[in-house]
Amino acid sequence: MKNIQQPGTGMAFLKAGAASALLLTGLSFTPVFATSEDDRNLQPIYHLYNEGQYVSTVSDQQAVEEILDEKISQLQPQFADLKLEVDKDFSMLEEQVFERNLPQEEEAMAQAAAEVEIKASAFALSINGRETLQVKDQAAYDEMIRQVKLAYATPEELAAWEQRKGLNEALPELQPGQANILSLTIAENLSGAANQTKPSLVMQPEQAAKYLLTGERSYTVHEGDKAEELAAIFGMELEELTALNPGIDLGKMTPGTQLNVSEAGPLVTVQVKKQQKQIALIPHQSLKTDDPTLLKGQSKLKQQGKNGRKHVTAEVETVNGEQVSHAVLNEQATLQPIDHIVMNGTMEPPSVGAGTFMWPAEDGRITSKRGQRWGRLHNGIDIAHPSGPAIKSADHGIVKAAGAAGTFGNRVIVDHQNGYETIYAHLSSIDVKVGEVVPQGTKLGNMGNTGRSTGVHLHFEVSLNGVTQDPLKYIN
Ligand SMILES: [Zn+2]
Repeated sequence: MKNIQQPGTGMAFLKAGAASALLLTGLSFTPVFATSEDDRNLQPIYHLYNEGQYVSTVSDQQAVEEILDEKISQLQPQFADLKLEVDKDFSMLEEQVFERNLPQEEEAMAQAAAEVEIKASAFALSINGRETLQVKDQAAYDEMIRQVKLAYATPEELAAWEQRKGLNEALPELQPGQANILSLTIAENLSGAANQTKPSLVMQPEQAAKYLLTGERSYTVHEGDKAEELAAIFGMELEELTALNPGIDLGKMTPGTQLNVSEAGPLVTVQVKKQQKQIALIPHQSLKTDDPTLLKGQSKLKQQGKNGRKHVTAEVETVNGEQVSHAVLNEQATLQPIDHIVMNGTMEPPSVGAGTFMWPAEDGRITSKRGQRWGRLHNGIDIAHPSGPAIKSADHGIVKAAGAAGTFGNRVIVDHQNGYETIYAHLSSIDVKVGEVVPQGTKLGNMGNTGRSTGVHLHFEVSLNGVTQDPLKYIN
């Protein structure tokens, strides 16, 4: 606060708050040659000073106070929860004069009303000595700091830590998911002090905490705001403010406009060291073992794997939430993992027939048997099904022929390596190649209507040592 003393002036009046407080400072003025009669003729006048600059002189101190009170009343609804008051840099200095001659007093009053700023009582945060933001009071300041800490700790962790502070007690036993704060510090030097500020600059504790944690801040434009002044308040060039607010004409801002006045990143560095207990997985092993009873290429699950669990106690250090160190103090398994075991077949596929035949189609019924038909021998049987089901090798063997073969259409011949051969004709498609080992049941292709055929069917022949047999002796 500045009090301006004028030579020859007796007292300074300073107005603070809607309820006016009268402060007496300085010396009483006693005119050297004044008589008691002279004293009775003395009248006060008031010199108004704002920000150290002389504004005007008036005769009615109370009228000035009323004008400023009115100014506060008009502004108050916009800032309902703030304590508005006259700028502390405004002062009225009394002088006793014999003759009051103040010809343009109304003008002087109006000038004072226009020039004197209404401010909000506030509590300012300085970071490393630089005033950075304002909240409404110390309680709001404390809440802001608490919110900053809560960004990196739970309310429970914070409360327990604050209770432990200064006491030399053992840390409480942790349950999984819990943590003990070992230290929580803000690297920057923070200090708070009561002061006055432009009412529209006062932030809510949550907004202020977010600004400190992320640099994000917005400002709501109020009546009378000018872009240049705002840029200066937020410590940037007008060009920077313009760049931060594309699409907003800063020359034509209206009250209510939201301006982005963010900083590039966090304004504080929060360092937290915690001891924490967490549940972690113990991954299961995946094992494979040979199974000689399974064919090569086949596999079987022997045991379903399951992950285990453990409790891990660790000392973890973070800076603004980023982990910078992690040291495991203790691990305790609570559930052992179970291996995942798969059996892989090693058996070579059988290529020598067993002498027993299976039905060579996935589906179908016999539509023609072996025997004389239309004056010639029908050498096999016909099995039909309109869906064209899969055709299968009737016994183990090796593919002897596979492909188009005249009236047979697409056909496969399997040599069962024991004197038997089987033929599969009229297939729509063939899935095997010559030389391929085809254990009993191997899919050879699909039933079809290729070659000399009058509908989807399989023509199936069996021969022993080159002599065709009646297939119905082998399958049924
Ligand atoms: Zn046939």
